Amino acid sequence: ALKITDECICCDVCVLECPNDAISLGEEIYEIDPDRCTECVGHYETSQCVEVCPVDAIIPDPDIREDRENLQRKYLRLQQE
Ligand code: SF4
Ligand code: SF4
Repeated sequence: ALKITDECICCDVCVLECPNDAISLGEEIYEIDPDRCTECVGHYETSQCVEVCPVDAIIPDPDIREDRENLQRKYLRLQQE
């Protein structure tokens, strides 16, 4: 999963780009729900939120490292909803 750092300027642009509805406004800045972030696996070749963030505030979460297989499984689970 990816995470949003405190560089976030709350511009709102990434929210609409996320195919998994994983991004929402937290207490101060935007947050990514790691249970919903597939790093865009299953939808796009690249992470859409990273592509649009104007201040490069979105990075791989060092605490939640997942390989492509895990991300693909998460994608399939989300499709069941
Ligand atoms: Fe959503 Fe993709 Fe960004 Fe994860 S990487 S938060 S799935 S847009
Ligand atoms: Fe924050 Fe970047 Fe998302 Fe804008 S695009 S809300 S700056 S993380």
